[in-house]
Amino acid sequence: MSVWHSNKTMRTWLLSAAVCLSLVAPALPQARPFAPAPGRPERGTPKLVLAIVIDQFRYDYLTRFRSEYTGGLKRMLDDGADFTNARYIHVPTVTAAGHATFLSGSTPSLTGIIGNEWWDRTTGARVTSVSDTQTHLLGASGEGSSPRRMLQSTIGDELKASGKGGKVIGISIKDRAAILPAGHTADVAYWIDAKSGNFVSSTYYFNALPAWVTDVNHTHPADKYAGREWLHHKLPEPGPALYGEMESTPYGNELIQQLALRALAVEKLGQGAKTDVLAISYSGNDYVGHRYGPDSEEVHDMALRVDKLLGELLQAAEAQAGRGGVLAVLTADHGVAPLPEVNQQRKMPGGRLEAARMSAAIEAALEAKFGGSHWIAFFGDTGAYLSLVPGVNPAEAENVAADALRAYPHVARVYTHTQLEKGELQADAIGTKVENGFNGARSASVLYVLEPYWIAAGSAGTTHGSPYGYDTHVPILFLGPGIKPGRYNANVAPNDIAPTLATLLDIETPSGSVGRVLSEMLQESPRLPRLLH
Ligand SMILES: [Zn+2]
Repeated sequence: MSVWHSNKTMRTWLLSAAVCLSLVAPALPQARPFAPAPGRPERGTPKLVLAIVIDQFRYDYLTRFRSEYTGGLKRMLDDGADFTNARYIHVPTVTAAGHATFLSGSTPSLTGIIGNEWWDRTTGARVTSVSDTQTHLLGASGEGSSPRRMLQSTIGDELKASGKGGKVIGISIKDRAAILPAGHTADVAYWIDAKSGNFVSSTYYFNALPAWVTDVNHTHPADKYAGREWLHHKLPEPGPALYGEMESTPYGNELIQQLALRALAVEKLGQGAKTDVLAISYSGNDYVGHRYGPDSEEVHDMALRVDKLLGELLQAAEAQAGRGGVLAVLTADHGVAPLPEVNQQRKMPGGRLEAARMSAAIEAALEAKFGGSHWIAFFGDTGAYLSLVPGVNPAEAENVAADALRAYPHVARVYTHTQLEKGELQADAIGTKVENGFNGARSASVLYVLEPYWIAAGSAGTTHGSPYGYDTHVPILFLGPGIKPGRYNANVAPNDIAPTLATLLDIETPSGSVGRVLSEMLQESPRLPRLLH
């Protein structure tokens, strides 16, 4: 794959572009932003794009539970386009990386969103994909979040830049899942603050929450779930325990659904002259999946419930924008591994590793070789960030750490930063995903991939992040104007969603897109005959 090479080329190009600009800048008249003509959408152009993610939703949840779906998933499967073989082309397969890919078509190597969190070498601090010390929360107290670490444009950004974009709104339980798909120029992203149970946003978007959101918060919408029982799990009384716990039940998704339906109505989405975007991500499925695993009755129930929420959302959107006015697309940010104990009962491989022990093994190897201490600045989802020590060649330290990891049972692959920076790796299915997930400035000093079905997830529950099918295979469903319904079996990737949307909307493809247009699903353009006149 050429993604890595084009990354290098792009860097060279950017460098020369920057030099050129600085040379000619004084001669340029003061730049005024181009204001595109406020054109009406062409006939057949959707008035509202519903961009939907179900957090941690494997493709096989569509096939396993299909006969029980009655809502939005059933409609999208029956009347829409169903891509049966969509797989991520990056690791780690985690929330932030998947959500940044969704409406950019890009890879973590290019979006810079290499994980949910990483070590920021410039400030020497742990950062999340959306943490932003320059902002604060609105609707609760604390530091805010923003899309500033995202390096590429999204569909919303391109819609706005084209002059055809109306409102762009992101909603989720998680900040990263609300913010990253919506993009830089979004009007707003809302998420839930687990401490207060409030809907919140950040000063990145505006200085105060809209009155209607504050009004919703005044009703303490989360408190009505106090004491509620779901499949033998009972929720606590109002307070932080309830708000935190609620995320791992169907009620977190219900809450953001209420906000989404309200946003549709109050912001009159789909009723303006331009195309609006509502990006919604149902995080509840991820919290439940981590705790109980993909084979649990809880995950089954969550799938049936999200299907109902989707049906309701589609109906509300179509009531407002007209049945032919809504273009809906649905995917997931990643899948999940089975619980190791469940898998072992099936005579399948797998088991649990402890990240803290892996980290300690690396530390011990480095101390034995070079002396000193505190070699590991940060041990994250994908690997270890090593401290820079005067007199020690970083590449040598990486090699020592890599050997320690290779010797660790059930570690399948190990890569060093230096090796990846030079592009020296086995270009097979795993190597390519590691390459697509590697960003030189942000990625770890030593990266690892575990054997299939092995997870570093403590003593209970399960997780995701691997390059294997159970983590990479996700749904892609499209429904709406311009879409030929059917079942499409070719190998595709979630990276194909954004360039396809850009084509349907007749706007520029997002800046870092590496996907292809899913042209097999597109109806013939109604505009061609007009061009002939
Ligand atoms: Zn997760």
